[in-house]
Amino acid sequence: MEVTSDKFRAAAARSLADTQLQRALARIPERFVAARARAAAEFGEFEQLRAAGAAIRERALARLDVLLERFEAEAVCRGASVHWAVDAAEANRIVLDIARGHGVRRIVKSKSMVTEECALNDALEAAGLAVLETDLGEYILQLARERPSHIIAPVIHKNREEVTELFSARHRRPRSTDIAALCQEAREILRPQFFAADMGISGANFLVAETGSVALFTNEGNGRLVTTLPRVHVAIAGIEKVVETLGELAALARLLPRSATGQAISNYFTLLTGVRGATESDGPEAFHIVLLDNGRSRLLGSELRPILRCIRCGACLNHCPVYQTVGGHAYGWVYPGPMGAVWTPALVGLERARELPEAATFCGQCQVACPVMIPLPDLLRRLRTRTTAEHLRPARERLALNLWGYAARHPRLYALLAAFAARVLYRLGRRRGWVRWLPLAAGWTATRDFPAGEGRTAREVLRRERGG
Ligand code: SF4
Repeated sequence: MEVTSDKFRAAAARSLADTQLQRALARIPERFVAARARAAAEFGEFEQLRAAGAAIRERALARLDVLLERFEAEAVCRGASVHWAVDAAEANRIVLDIARGHGVRRIVKSKSMVTEECALNDALEAAGLAVLETDLGEYILQLARERPSHIIAPVIHKNREEVTELFSARHRRPRSTDIAALCQEAREILRPQFFAADMGISGANFLVAETGSVALFTNEGNGRLVTTLPRVHVAIAGIEKVVETLGELAALARLLPRSATGQAISNYFTLLTGVRGATESDGPEAFHIVLLDNGRSRLLGSELRPILRCIRCGACLNHCPVYQTVGGHAYGWVYPGPMGAVWTPALVGLERARELPEAATFCGQCQVACPVMIPLPDLLRRLRTRTTAEHLRPARERLALNLWGYAARHPRLYALLAAFAARVLYRLGRRRGWVRWLPLAAGWTATRDFPAGEGRTAREVLRRERGG
């Protein structure tokens, strides 16, 4: 997938001018933020649960190599095959080889952000395979040829009328704007495809080392059909998704749905362990698990390590005033919002996503909402520091910061320049009390007036008040 994160500012400006998108984004506070707050309050000791979740994820990262090897051994002894992919290209190649090896022609998929990260559908389709998304939101996006704009509500940017137009154009059935009727229509189209498919592809919310299981949390039931009806199932997971025990998974199962959608538990919680047994009536004949690195092991020893705790709940997106204003597509790759502003530079390189760490007000709401207590503002600050250290900021900005830095190291000069600037501002705006345009701060004055002040610096005011 093309990375356009270096054009965040321009994309954000387009999002701001998109009235339909703004109406869709306005639903986020009630739909997600309030729902999470209610769920956390009903649970009672949610802060303790968050601390436990953070500890579980941190323990797993501390023993990642050991847990992954144990996961592989347990999965293999229950009949699964485990594959290791160093990057997205290798993951795609492995899935393609599995498909060829099993004579697969038709594939159904459940929602998986890691397959978006790999652009797996493009690779499979380029090889002549038919791939169908079966999560309703992802299905709509596949018809519309668009990317998800949210990690758990991929089609949040679209309204009912747009889906109606899309369905009537592609399904050639009577037009309906009733949501239940639209769901039923999609169900009737998709249901036969599960039975016709040779292979199902899913992601994994977690991997459980002690049983070699893949855990899935879904709300639509398509995940179960994808993973049990086709004769071959491929699950793809980032290597950081492993936890040690089913007990730890149970703790995270209390955290994830409450943080994501405000549900006490998602509609379907599925634990997939091994292939279909001799006495079992459903399940795949072949179960392949692809463990993707794609830069994650490099993060383990880096200052961005805490992002590996991420359980992809989307709470940081929902609570972020920037995401609430510009939506997900502006972030220019797979992962949007505060988590995306860390994951994207971490996985594709800071030079290709330099603008994302700037897309934050540092209000701290993302950290407050994060179920595994990832210090997102701190990680964003570290990335901002790196953009300066690696000279990735525009030359004009670097020059301005260097000049400011020089002045800040010379207090007398700083006081002189500040006093000069305070007087100039006062002269420019004394009539209105505001300055409407400033040559070096046009980005600010384009949408806000700048206070003219009283012609004195704070230091001068203090000195006068103290009689100095
Ligand atoms: S960073 Fe935290 S809040 Fe954001 S998606 Fe990951 S786990 Fe959820």
